[in-house]
Amino acid sequence: MNKGVLTVVSGFSGSGKGTIMKALLKKYDNYALSISATTRSPREGERNGREYFFKTKEEFQRLIEEDQLIEYAQYVENYYGTPREYVERCLDDGKDVILEIEVQGARKVKEKIPEAVLIFVTPPSAEELRARLVGRGTESMEVIESRLSRANEEAVVMPDYDYLLVNDDLEQCVEAMHGIIQAERCKMRRN
Ligand code: 5GP
Repeated sequence: MNKGVLTVVSGFSGSGKGTIMKALLKKYDNYALSISATTRSPREGERNGREYFFKTKEEFQRLIEEDQLIEYAQYVENYYGTPREYVERCLDDGKDVILEIEVQGARKVKEKIPEAVLIFVTPPSAEELRARLVGRGTESMEVIESRLSRANEEAVVMPDYDYLLVNDDLEQCVEAMHGIIQAERCKMRRN
């Protein structure tokens, strides 16, 4: 059986990438979404093992030392990392695996696994981004400001990505992402 395609999706906090992922997984059944480990506290409604594996700093450190993470990065004071075992098992089973991770992590994945496909998702404008973050109501204004400032830094790396998706229509974005990944599956040679 052919191995699955590994896709890395990044985008500014508030770009809507999480919503796109959920819709993609609901519509098509060959995708597996990796669940990251993080030291950030759960938001209201988040459950351990569903959105994230919530870890203490010490537990996270142990995952690093035991080489259980494909990559990890610090993002606005917390650590986030991709558990290796699940991703490798799904790819071997022919599933297309999606990592929803920030830009430093994406770069590390591309270095280790050059055939990984990198997709960057942006909202249509900076105003829309701020409005979405505020409207979501899950973070304080202070955290929103640090996420917006982080977005400015992240914009610099957009050219490193293979594809750019502007999220002004959810359904179109889902179809575009599915199309990209399926096209990658059909490639004669993945570099
Ligand atoms: P949030 O706190 O909003 O859930 O996530 C903050 C940022 O961390 C997002 O950009 C998200 O994509 C990123 N992130 C989530 N999991 C991982 C991971 O395993 N590795 C890295 N490098 N970033 C992650």
